[in-house]
Amino acid sequence: MSDIGDLKIEALSEDARPKTRKLVLRDVEIGAGAPVSVQSMTKCPTTDVDAVIAKTRELQAAGCQIIRVAVPDEAAAEAVGDITKRSPIPVVADIHLDHKLALTVIEGGVDCVRINPGNMKRDQHLKAVADAAKSAGIPIRIGINSGSLEQSLLRMYGGPTPQAMVQSAILCINKFESWGFQDLKLSMKSHDVTDTVDAYLTISQITSYPLHLGITASGSGRTAIIKSAIGIGSLLLQGIGDTIRVSLADDSLAEVEVAIEILRVLGLRPRGVEFVACPTCGRCKVDLLAHLETVKSKLSGLEADITIAVMGCVVNGPGEARQADIGIAFADDGTANLFRKGKRYASGAAEIAINRLIWDVKQTVRDV
Ligand code: SF4
Repeated sequence: MSDIGDLKIEALSEDARPKTRKLVLRDVEIGAGAPVSVQSMTKCPTTDVDAVIAKTRELQAAGCQIIRVAVPDEAAAEAVGDITKRSPIPVVADIHLDHKLALTVIEGGVDCVRINPGNMKRDQHLKAVADAAKSAGIPIRIGINSGSLEQSLLRMYGGPTPQAMVQSAILCINKFESWGFQDLKLSMKSHDVTDTVDAYLTISQITSYPLHLGITASGSGRTAIIKSAIGIGSLLLQGIGDTIRVSLADDSLAEVEVAIEILRVLGLRPRGVEFVACPTCGRCKVDLLAHLETVKSKLSGLEADITIAVMGCVVNGPGEARQADIGIAFADDGTANLFRKGKRYASGAAEIAINRLIWDVKQTVRDV
């Protein structure tokens, strides 16, 4: 907490996240203050076990901790057993419509099952899945999706509103709790960022089950990334969320890379190499973008938590460069100043200063 006169400002930290119930998928802890974990899905046929495992290994190397696979039919359900045995990370089976598929994957040893109460309607079917998961000692994710809510709730709320999504989750939770099953995880996904955030905010105040965050059907490209970053990021900033998946109409690797970047930006993962650079404006007298690209390319592959500032002029340049671990601020006269840990330590012609910055960053990282 910091004091500014009478004003007291509390800093948000990961420790400040409200504690949800703890779940464990193999060695991945979820909830109860555990680090936010990253999930993704494979997009090849689940029956192609070799392809699923190859992709899972690729995603794991990029930072994915939990993999989900679609289970559209009995052949896919049978394949999940093999996948779970060979997968280096926990496997979640994505089940819709047919509860028997859930029973098959649980028997095959899967680590978690995701079901959708909007399309698995019979209580005796849900209970059979709950009983099987309890015997196997695995959790279940109740995956509420605005695109497949119960018809009765759609009529009651006039559409797939956040309230309808929350009501669907509560009805399902009540059933599982009445059957003595509490190893639940919840997701409340919509393609609409505001509806998704509203639904998660509401459910987070009602239950303490871990929450899996995501914006579903967000599309592709820049818009999809922005939607996911705002939706997931705004919830994480409020301390809500235990696992995340960025759903993109793209390669799963892009999903994982964006998810990791969201966590990095929020300080929930090591930041790695972070570049602070101004957007430039009419005051800038150098080709800052070219200098930035030079620095980035010469330092690509650097493995360290370090912030490097590359700033265009004397207005904000020295201030930002002082706040970075190391930085350069260009001046109007073709020179530049170099800063390290808050102090100016060198200056000279711009081209020479840029090379010095690159050399000093490498030296700094080597000395750590
Ligand atoms: S640091 Fe200077 S050049 Fe960069 S945006 Fe600010 S005023 Fe413009």
